[in-house]
Amino acid sequence: MPIADFRTYCEMLDRARTNRFAYPAINVTSLTTANAVLRGLAESRSDGIIQVSTGGGAFASGTAVKDMALGAISIAEHVHRAAARYPVYVALHTDHCQADKLKSFVLPLVAETERRRACGLPNLFNSHMFDGSALPLKDNLDIAATLLERFKQSELILEIEAGVVGGEEDGMRAEASAKLYTTPEDTLEVARRLNGIGGRYLLAATFGNVHGVYKPGSVKLKPAILKDCQDAIARKYGKSALFHLVFHGGSGSELHEIREALDYGVVKMNIDTDTQYAFTRPIADHMLKHYDGVLRVDSEMGDKKAYDPRTYLALAETAMAERVKRAVSELRGTGTTMFKGQEWHLSSAGQEACHE
Ligand SMILES: [Zn+2]
Repeated sequence: MPIADFRTYCEMLDRARTNRFAYPAINVTSLTTANAVLRGLAESRSDGIIQVSTGGGAFASGTAVKDMALGAISIAEHVHRAAARYPVYVALHTDHCQADKLKSFVLPLVAETERRRACGLPNLFNSHMFDGSALPLKDNLDIAATLLERFKQSELILEIEAGVVGGEEDGMRAEASAKLYTTPEDTLEVARRLNGIGGRYLLAATFGNVHGVYKPGSVKLKPAILKDCQDAIARKYGKSALFHLVFHGGSGSELHEIREALDYGVVKMNIDTDTQYAFTRPIADHMLKHYDGVLRVDSEMGDKKAYDPRTYLALAETAMAERVKRAVSELRGTGTTMFKGQEWHLSSAGQEACHE
């Protein structure tokens, strides 16, 4: 399907909250990783979210250019074209953008969507995250409110964060003293400031989550915090005001913690580290098994088949697609696509295809 439009995306998020499942939001940095997500979603018959970080955008623009907005646009344009070949809905999102990067990342992307809409074309991205979690909450929400006013005009959804996700992502490391647990008071303030604006937003509330993967036991997730926040909001503003929550740092989480978070209104779970590893694992295997093929050892010529990047990148794409399928299953998303279309068959014969 083409990329989900605003109405479809809103419906996706509402259905997920009602039915207690969530969409994996997978970070991609290249055509190959984007294709892996599309394949994994299609084989799961699940809709989902493809996202690009500032560092991912910079990487995708090329090591000589390093323009985060340019690379994000390139990936998004590819996904717009490629997604049309898959029988699921995909939304395009951009990940963490701190206040000092808005001018070089999110705002040029919003301007690009505004330009496209003026020509009658679809939005480039569906949603963008502004990460003001390092700021005092008032400053965070001042910026979020200004963005939401603008996003609303173009049917863009805003993701914000209250509280700080630990760990490291894209070279940004949270301070050890950072506030790793959002409070109900914080989220009431979010609703007070944003709900009257009329745009749509997602809330990344933090409940001890960290970016990256840590050894078992070193992360203390407290999903009940999400319940406390939702209960507070429902008491004050009614059930219709329940948040659509985002689970950051989903990699390495225990299944029961993920499931508990879904029960409390998480509709989007970000996954990066686990899919990075899934992608690289078969490449490592290939290099070790075909050491004398990928290298020109002792003035031998190596094996062109072994060092052709397509050989190992195809293995990597397939393995990452499998990891996406596992994520969908853990998020209770298998078979939940809203797409009702004709039969679809994978090009590789004999594989499971989806039927209406
Ligand atoms: Zn995150």
